[in-house]
Amino acid sequence: MDATVVDRESVGPDTFTLTFETPEGFEGLAGQFVRLSGAVSGESYARFYTLSSPDTEDTFEITVEVAEEGGPFSDYLADLSAGDEVAVAGPYGEEYYDGEARAVVLAGGPGVGAAVAIAEAAVANDAEAAVVYRHDGEPAHAERLDALVDAGADVTTLGEGDDAFAAAVDDALTNAAGEGVFVYGFAGFVETATEAIEAAGGDPDGAKVESFG
Ligand SMILES: Cc1cc2nc3c(=O)[nH]c(=O)nc-3n(C[C@H](O)[C@H](O)[C@H](O)COP(=O)(O)OP(=O)(O)OC[C@H]3O[C@@H](n4cnc5c(N)ncnc54)[C@H](O)[C@@H]3O)c2cc1C
Repeated sequence: MDATVVDRESVGPDTFTLTFETPEGFEGLAGQFVRLSGAVSGESYARFYTLSSPDTEDTFEITVEVAEEGGPFSDYLADLSAGDEVAVAGPYGEEYYDGEARAVVLAGGPGVGAAVAIAEAAVANDAEAAVVYRHDGEPAHAERLDALVDAGADVTTLGEGDDAFAAAVDDALTNAAGEGVFVYGFAGFVETATEAIEAAGGDPDGAKVESFG
């Protein structure tokens, strides 16, 4: 199916959101991802992007970070604007917010999209939310993270080389029943986050983990 872009916004350094009109019959949950595809310079590409909106009612959003060296598909998405159409499939993934009483999201780089979506879904569900977000340079989605703090969520943002990450995870995890732990980011971050969960006395196998590759 095709989805039409209705908005594109910059939300941080080399990071932008694309909002799409939700196609008929498409229903996704915070934490799930979609597959976008298209032709770039005559070659076909398909890449996965996690929902960064708390739901998919009327519209849904993704958050894309273009790596420093760029990449064919993220560069292509960066050039889209309202009215453009993209082939979309999904949603996919079992790692979504499922009504947990407390959601703790560990996010690296573009994983911040999933973090705001899941934390917003938890807050809307009158549940507790905590986000530990590790980023390179300035954080993305600062406005939505601030709004989450105003809504009562615990949000910690840390720079890439910050060795306080494990301590922040230790602070965020209560390991109480009803707590869901979520991890979103590229492979290096997932490894660091998994180690931090274990060091904090949590259960990495029970965490909902989505590696971006
Ligand atoms: C389940 C899943 C969910 C994903 N969700 C998101 C998402 O919500 N937002 C998002 O931006 N991407 C997400 N990705 C990654 C995305 O699918 C693409 O891999 C990414 O956009 C790069 O594609 P490209 O064609 O631009 O570059 P490529 O040429 O495919 O990638 C270039 C290289 O850089 C690495 N890379 C690319 N971007 C980064 C980065 N920001 N940090 C570290 N390494 C990077 C890639 O792993 C690859 O080795 C997800 C991937 C998966 C598997």
